[in-house]
Amino acid sequence: MSEKSPKLRAELDGIPTYKPGKPAAAGGPVAFKLSSNENPYPPLPGVLESAVAAAGHFNRYPDMMCTGLVNELAERFGVPAEHIATGTGSVGVAQSLIQSTAGPGDEVIYAWRSFEAYPIIVQISGATSVQVPLAEGDVHDLDAMFEAITERTRLIFVCNPNNPTGTAVRRAELERFLDRVPSDILIVIDEAYKEFVRDVEVPDGIELYRSRPNVAVLRTFSKAYGLAGLRVGFAVAHEPVAAALRKTAVPFGVSQLAQDAAVASLRAEDELMGRVGALVGERARVYGALLAQGWTVVPETQANFVWMRLGERTSDFAAACEKAGVVVRPFAGEGLRVTIGEPEANDLFLHTAESFF
Ligand code: PMP
Repeated sequence: MSEKSPKLRAELDGIPTYKPGKPAAAGGPVAFKLSSNENPYPPLPGVLESAVAAAGHFNRYPDMMCTGLVNELAERFGVPAEHIATGTGSVGVAQSLIQSTAGPGDEVIYAWRSFEAYPIIVQISGATSVQVPLAEGDVHDLDAMFEAITERTRLIFVCNPNNPTGTAVRRAELERFLDRVPSDILIVIDEAYKEFVRDVEVPDGIELYRSRPNVAVLRTFSKAYGLAGLRVGFAVAHEPVAAALRKTAVPFGVSQLAQDAAVASLRAEDELMGRVGALVGERARVYGALLAQGWTVVPETQANFVWMRLGERTSDFAAACEKAGVVVRPFAGEGLRVTIGEPEANDLFLHTAESFF
């Protein structure tokens, strides 16, 4: 038998393993998970019922084209069904967007710090990441991102609101950027947290996409819709981008459970958006309480989390939270991202923060 291992692509060397938010501490005092920006509410009974009904048929492959879900989304957004491409979470769709546009020798621009999956999925493709530091106040520096464009640029991510800072780019600034970027570069507006935005100056990416063939919008059912465990996300994009996404998607990547639960969630939207409203209320409460305690918190978060720049204190604060029974997301030496959860979880976090200050 040969001693040699199979040849793997050199581009994979050094790719960090994706680190999901820690699970709630097993056996801990109380275990609240505020580390992955999930929705703390359990599935609505009607949504659960539709998934359970679909589960009765999982000896069959799902509808590969996600027809029912795609039609429902097309109607709701007033876009052609051909402009919607679904995938295994929006991260799956993001990976397909890169695979459709960039490979070795090409460049993908995004702000940093931003969503941790971007560097990983770019590196997997063999393309090169061009990370543009966030400007003062942890906001996207769109001028610097424009300056970073070269002949090799194929795709630009704008994470709006940005994970993990919660900051959002406003309409006038984003439109100016979109109109300056050469039209053969794909701009992906990642709106995973769109439903939590309350600043009316923050645009709806789907409005921006309509007149711009080089803009794609990423959305997910994982956050506001509470289906993180079912893995379903989608892009809205013009042909031929949407067609390329359908070609590069993992075949049958969205289970029938996920498709049916997503449709049921869209139909239960009033109730789900009521929950989002409650979380937005909790966000204001947590933010205000942290300020009152004397912490510096990045203002005006538009997502379902807050971002605290703690520098060297980050890891110790995260450890204190964990000890108290709340798992949060530290970025060592930089800051802490804390998901807005159920009121009891937020209270426990605030209590820990007060003792740690
Ligand atoms: N985009 C952003 C900005 C995110 O924060 C996340 C999840 N953390 C995703 C995309 C991916 O979410 P999902 O794959 O669950 O749709």
